[in-house]
Amino acid sequence: MNIEKTKSFYKKIKSDELCNCAYCQNYFREIKASYPTLTEYLNNLGIDIEKPFETMPLEPDESGYIEYICAQYIVCGTPDDFVKETVGSVEVGIAESHPSTAIEENHFLIEVYPIRLKWVM
Ligand SMILES: [Zn+2]
Repeated sequence: MNIEKTKSFYKKIKSDELCNCAYCQNYFREIKASYPTLTEYLNNLGIDIEKPFETMPLEPDESGYIEYICAQYIVCGTPDDFVKETVGSVEVGIAESHPSTAIEENHFLIEVYPIRLKWVM
């Protein structure tokens, strides 16, 4: 994986390019404060946790929380030196299936799961 390229990739994404559905908006608002260790871990890989490529939400539950089956992030480079990790309560692994990214350079996707957040929408 190429951490420098990944970093500049995330810097170029503007927040108005991100998905504006309620599930993703909720994720953007809550993820950093709820998962500081994961935030730090992804940051060390060059990934901005507030800019997922895709989130897979369930419905908010009665206690005011919502679970995401996973969230996927683009990483630049090739996955050869990437190792599956457990970060706190979250698994971080390579995403085997994902929507097409329209990026031509070498890249792959990782997914983090499960994620449970307060529903603030
Ligand atoms: Zn969305």
